[in-house]
Amino acid sequence: MLFESLTSRLQETFQKLRGKGKVTEADVKEAMREVRLALLEADVSLDVVKDFIARVRERAVGQEVLKSLTPAQQVIKIVHDELTALMGGQAAKLELAPTPPTVILMVGLQGAGKTTTTGKLARYLQKQGKKPLLVAADVYRPAAIRQLQVLGEQIAAPVFTMGEGADPVDIAKAGVEHAKGERLDVVLIDTAGRLHVNEELMDELARIRDAVQPTEILLVVDAMTGQDAVNVARTFHERLGLTGVILTKLDGDTRGGAALSVRAVTGCPIKFAGMGEKLDALEPFHPDRMASRILG
Ligand code: GDP
Repeated sequence: MLFESLTSRLQETFQKLRGKGKVTEADVKEAMREVRLALLEADVSLDVVKDFIARVRERAVGQEVLKSLTPAQQVIKIVHDELTALMGGQAAKLELAPTPPTVILMVGLQGAGKTTTTGKLARYLQKQGKKPLLVAADVYRPAAIRQLQVLGEQIAAPVFTMGEGADPVDIAKAGVEHAKGERLDVVLIDTAGRLHVNEELMDELARIRDAVQPTEILLVVDAMTGQDAVNVARTFHERLGLTGVILTKLDGDTRGGAALSVRAVTGCPIKFAGMGEKLDALEPFHPDRMASRILG
């Protein structure tokens, strides 16, 4: 379960605080020490934890909190608010172009779940009444084109391919033209991944970006890789200027470090969360709901 140990540790901490009749500044400080440890154990990066604790502490030792009739509740509310802010505050919506088709570039490392997520996002858009086109621009992984075609068949969405011999930039451009001709609303371009971030990959993605001017550049990262996911996000964002992150495999992530740090480290909003292998297992990311989930 996501945030499993974080949730139980925070509940324990706040239980102690609730048990006290009067809450002192020392009690709040002690609670903050525990929250700090719990966040570090959840694999949230140190800098993010430090800033977070400083903000909560500053608000929580104020007289209005300590003198209130329900000081523990007030502290929990502050933690909730700050967790929400940490994950981006308001939910970040998918942007659509004023004139269709909207072009969405899907990027990420191999195995992160990029191709699956491209199918899931197409399904999500169909449910909103949109007509998406899937474009197979990953010409390096032999099975990638076929995988996208299978996904397209499953959701009855058209898939544009030019085979493995074509240049990804040409495929992307031709895909967008095809969507215009067919009056499709959204073009989802599935790009190549690599096992590690490298210059060649980044160059190719930048060339595709410059050629098709996407409204969204979404990075798909595996939440289970924790701080690695955060580092990957930082690198992609610096190089490509991401418009959003999609965290996959949150269903298998018990710690939640990436969910808690990505936004704070990169400044880039988390737009969706992958919650399973099925094609409908994609949810818009709501920071406030995530914060409530963490606090249990
Ligand atoms: P790509 O190399 O980035 O295109 O990755 P794939 O789309 O092929 O996905 C790699 C594996 O991750 C597949 O087995 C997917 O079913 C799985 N996967 C993708 N998203 C999720 C998710 O949100 N939850 C779980 N449990 N598995 C996922």
